[in-house]
Amino acid sequence: MCFYEQIVNTCGDWKWGNFKAHCSKEYRTGETCGMKMVFESYHVQEHCKYCVKIQTKYGRIAKEEDRIKRWRAEGNRRASIDASQNAIAELEREIWELNSKRSSQTHNIGGSRRER
Ligand SMILES: [Zn+2]
Repeated sequence: MCFYEQIVNTCGDWKWGNFKAHCSKEYRTGETCGMKMVFESYHVQEHCKYCVKIQTKYGRIAKEEDRIKRWRAEGNRRASIDASQNAIAELEREIWELNSKRSSQTHNIGGSRRER
């Protein structure tokens, strides 16, 4: 095990920061073993990049839904409503992707050395 900084966002997500110390087992070889442990946590006053993007996309969905509501009231806007609904479906797909990236970033304590 080797020890790293842990950077914690206000959304509760976190990622690994800088390398801090070797464990006793690896100390002599001077290499990191790939098993990551928390050395110290830093709290930053911002959401992680994934949550920021997800929130932006939710905002765009809300706007599209407002437009759809307005068009429904106006009537005769079938094509506009269809296009808007397609845009929402696309945004939801992107949110789903961001969420899966977000959770793969989060839950690999003691895992691979894939993160910097
Ligand atoms: Zn987050």
